[in-house]
Amino acid sequence: MNADISNQPDNQGAGGILTIDLAALAENYRLLCETASPSQVAAVVKADAYGLDAGRVAPVFYAAGCRNFFVAHLGEALKLKPQLADDGKIYVLNGLQPETEALCAQAGIVPVLNSLEQIANWASCARRLSQALPAVLQFDTCMSRLGLSPSEQEKLVSDPALLDGIDLKLVMSHLACGDEPLNAANRKQLACMRQVIARFPGVPVSFANSGGIFLGPDFRFDLARPGIALYGGAPSDGVPNPMKPVVRLDARVIQVRSVPAGTLVGYGGAFEAKRETRVATIAVGYADGWPRHLSNRGAAYFGTTRLPIIGRVSMDSITLDATDLPEGTLSLGSLVELIGPSQTLEDVATICDTIAYELLTSLGHRYRRNYVG
Ligand SMILES: *Cc1c(COP(=O)(O)O)cnc(C)c1O
Repeated sequence: MNADISNQPDNQGAGGILTIDLAALAENYRLLCETASPSQVAAVVKADAYGLDAGRVAPVFYAAGCRNFFVAHLGEALKLKPQLADDGKIYVLNGLQPETEALCAQAGIVPVLNSLEQIANWASCARRLSQALPAVLQFDTCMSRLGLSPSEQEKLVSDPALLDGIDLKLVMSHLACGDEPLNAANRKQLACMRQVIARFPGVPVSFANSGGIFLGPDFRFDLARPGIALYGGAPSDGVPNPMKPVVRLDARVIQVRSVPAGTLVGYGGAFEAKRETRVATIAVGYADGWPRHLSNRGAAYFGTTRLPIIGRVSMDSITLDATDLPEGTLSLGSLVELIGPSQTLEDVATICDTIAYELLTSLGHRYRRNYVG
């Protein structure tokens, strides 16, 4: 934490500081490579690298040896492309909207084709450009979300000419329960995937997300596609998280007051002080991705002291019970921890009935962002 944040022009006077540890990102990439070896490891950098800024984050993975990057939308791929050297390949998980094929082809971006329709559109683009175009084929294996259905798979296998002009780089599928090591659905999906693979001999295979890597070697195939674990999130439920924390979030105190027992705090008077209470107001709210569902639940920390959230989470502020801290400890500009050594992303996610993914991708653009390491 030695970067001088006061010199950054953006978000002066921000209500919170989001610290992103680039060295931890690189370490997480290396740990996943070691675990997955001899499989290759891609980086999933969709949703602006889970909210952490794909332009800053993807080059870190590239420097650590990563050459395959997955985003969700073509727009994300086009934005990322100039940030990567030419041998950094970018894949678009959601595939292409009609009429965007030529743009994708010209930019050298590889679509994931999820239906016969997307295959036909890509093949006809290849014909128009008179060149073979690279693509990934995604098959649905019991998740019913994205990818060729079993009946589309049959049609494709009985009419291989549908792939004329398409240079098949990978076949892939996605685990529905990869974060649940004991869920029998994982083996069922693997069995489905093996049937798909048998129909495309010699084509490299991608199956595992973060959780999938930790399900064992059977799940890893040629290229794993972790996202959340790279960003420090837990890849598997119910076991210790092996990843290094990447994100720390601290919020600024903007006001401190003492109120007598019986005082109501915040919108709707949703909290009533049971004792004389020191209320500290911090400058982070639901517009900063701190869920309103944390009203009257959850906490911030000052060192190891827990400061419960009291009253409703507002758009731009939250009220904390700071009575357990000696008077004068907190004042205008003090920092309290929202994510860090005292509470992990998963801790907060659990309290507000969501997942680390949603919290991370919701953090928004009002924080002072401090990229360290
Ligand atoms: C988001 C996503 C991933 C990454 O998943 P994590 O659980 O974050 O590791 C991999 N593959 C696909 C198809 C995805 O949509």
